[in-house]
Amino acid sequence: MDNFVYNGNPARVIFGSGTVSRLGDEADRLDVRRILVLSTPEQAEQAQGIAEILGSRFAGMYSNAQMHTPVEVTQDAMRTVESLSADAVLSIGGGSTTGLGKAIAFRTDLPQIVVPTTYAGSEATPILGETENGRKVTKFDPRILPEVIVYDVDLTLTLPVAMSVTSGINAIAHAVEALYAREANPIVSLMAEQGIAAIARALPIIARRPNDPDARADALYGAWLCGVCLGSVGMALHHKLCHTLGGMFNLPHAPMHTALLPHAVAYNAPATPEAMAKIAAALGSDDAATGLFDLAEGLGASTALKTMGMPGDGIDAAVEQAMANAYWNPRVLEKDGLRQLLARAYEGQRPE
Ligand code: NAD
Repeated sequence: MDNFVYNGNPARVIFGSGTVSRLGDEADRLDVRRILVLSTPEQAEQAQGIAEILGSRFAGMYSNAQMHTPVEVTQDAMRTVESLSADAVLSIGGGSTTGLGKAIAFRTDLPQIVVPTTYAGSEATPILGETENGRKVTKFDPRILPEVIVYDVDLTLTLPVAMSVTSGINAIAHAVEALYAREANPIVSLMAEQGIAAIARALPIIARRPNDPDARADALYGAWLCGVCLGSVGMALHHKLCHTLGGMFNLPHAPMHTALLPHAVAYNAPATPEAMAKIAAALGSDDAATGLFDLAEGLGASTALKTMGMPGDGIDAAVEQAMANAYWNPRVLEKDGLRQLLARAYEGQRPE
């Protein structure tokens, strides 16, 4: 076995069905009494249900979390934190709501409880991506890592099938890049393989039966494993491209991951045959890149960036930006190769 370094983040994870009933105990464990509950406008009602569970520990609600954590929204939420004298935040929702909770914790060091309802995996990372003046800036800090994650499978039953598919493939992207990361190590690779396999077997069942409790549990468990991968090792070309395109064209996060991933994997495949074999095996496919593409397409996800608002003449500018301050990547970044990669993802073509 090769030498390796494993860096784990501290985590307390409660997982199962009906687990939100334990939120009061978790709050008491953290010794917090004035909890601000965060959500998007769409999940305000679900957040209200959580508020009732918290009882007298509930201080108030802020239900305007938005995608890509705009700084103006955080500043607005900070006024609520201060006016309520909140001593903790509870984020219920996907990566957008978790992002707001992290942004508040980064500024205040308040403890965070996260109840994730998508498969984005942000709850397992000390990473915050904030947007200001059209630029997304990433921060890493121990204050950003949530104190406790309460995964309640029941809350994911309402995640629409289309979002479940793209969110699940967003999670798979974390594990895929962990398998060929510069800091790749056997522990994280175990989680990555298990995470990909759990999500890949759950999504087709969820597409047929969105309420299937076992498939939903599998997917959420896989999402956590994939989130741990994201928080433990550095990401590469795929995440750099998503970061670039997300910032430049404000593309929807999980669908953009879904369209790009097979092509980023195809680009890196020649440099990382062992990782490719593990990804393909976890997908139950002969090939990593086409296996990912077929999974997405077979479940009805769009595989074309042009359907998500990316302008056709944006490819060259995106290549330039992706090559500037590039992340480490197992294969050298070549302009022509990246242009072809983005052109195929733009059109939604199957990788070759
Ligand atoms: P999201 O949080 O924006 O959710 C999308 C929509 O789905 C929202 O309207 C939300 O309210 C709704 N929703 C969520 N769960 C639902 C459910 N169970 N039932 C019904 N509706 C539900 O989407 P996302 O993909 O989870 O998160 C994307 C954001 O997370 C991006 O800003 C991305 O940058 C960030 N992210 C950050 C990290 C990190 O480690 N920092 C990791 C992954 C994603």
